[in-house]
Amino acid sequence: MIVEGAIVDLDGARPGYVRLRGSHVVETGALGTDSSHGTERRVHGIVVPAPVNSHTHLGDSGFQREPPRGRLAEVVGAPGGVKFRFLTETNSRAKAAGAREALRRMVREGTAAAVDFREEGLAGVRLLRRAAGKLPLDLRILGRPLRRPVDPEELGALLAVADGVGLSSAREEDRETRRAIASACHDRGKRYALHASEESREEPGDYLEPRPDLLVHLLSATEEDLATVAKAGVPVAVCPRSNALFGQAPDLALFERAGVTTLLGTDNGMLNAPSLFRELEFAYVSQRLRHRGVSPGFLVRAAFLSPWAWLGRPEVARIQPGHDGPLLVFRLPAEAPEYALVARATEQLIVRPESPRPA
Ligand SMILES: [Zn+2]
Repeated sequence: MIVEGAIVDLDGARPGYVRLRGSHVVETGALGTDSSHGTERRVHGIVVPAPVNSHTHLGDSGFQREPPRGRLAEVVGAPGGVKFRFLTETNSRAKAAGAREALRRMVREGTAAAVDFREEGLAGVRLLRRAAGKLPLDLRILGRPLRRPVDPEELGALLAVADGVGLSSAREEDRETRRAIASACHDRGKRYALHASEESREEPGDYLEPRPDLLVHLLSATEEDLATVAKAGVPVAVCPRSNALFGQAPDLALFERAGVTTLLGTDNGMLNAPSLFRELEFAYVSQRLRHRGVSPGFLVRAAFLSPWAWLGRPEVARIQPGHDGPLLVFRLPAEAPEYALVARATEQLIVRPESPRPA
């Protein structure tokens, strides 16, 4: 198959064609120069690395009621919030079924990887691994040890099955605990991550010490805080729809200006569908609504490109001959490809390599 239109990857957005065999890239180049001599199926569209959902809590996806309008702590706070009551009162089978449904939706929408913060200790990590089964999605699970002070045995068992630890926040865990967890993660080549400056501002000196591999939210961070985080080179996953449900919003224009490596996530399954298309459009439109517009390219990097380096698979973010990673072809106009991906993409516009020639 030949896709003529635009290529969007780490080298930017540009007109061009991509020749695919299955989902394997065999040739790329300037429009009109492909070597197929008109013998192959041809579609007009945009080729881009598949997106990554960089922050989820899939464990609470089974909660399908309207989220209450309380404060953050009342809804998702531990241990008394609605979310943790759901986790405690719901059996494993039902929680796994909710997570599985959310994962299947991500796969249908072309999401190729996700980074999940999983509560409930070792059992929670195991539950989600089982729920994911053999679905074609690179799922990284950051679990949470339960015992305080940290029990090395529990943490070791957790890290044997998890990809790292995702803590609730620096505010809720003392420095000694954070240090013990971060060094156990790093000794095993795993990731240490945490939420930071969510409902209210925290000091960068707190959440950057010990240095995390990933921060989540920073919606209450100042411009100066963001500059500090950018300088530390720590990526930040943002979840604007989830924040909006609590009447808040990260100012992504500040993130873009500060040069923060920004990733995009959909946060709790109980709050929002795990759809990056919805998240992208909301992020773009809500910034415009506040007269704080961000560039479509910034959001494209957050959803489709930057996460691949974090996942240790940087080659996926560059579309070139030999590319064998997950990519998507969208039947979308190629005039403004980054805007099209941010504001117009849906799963119905994904061209599957094996699908028959359209009428
Ligand atoms: Zn979160």
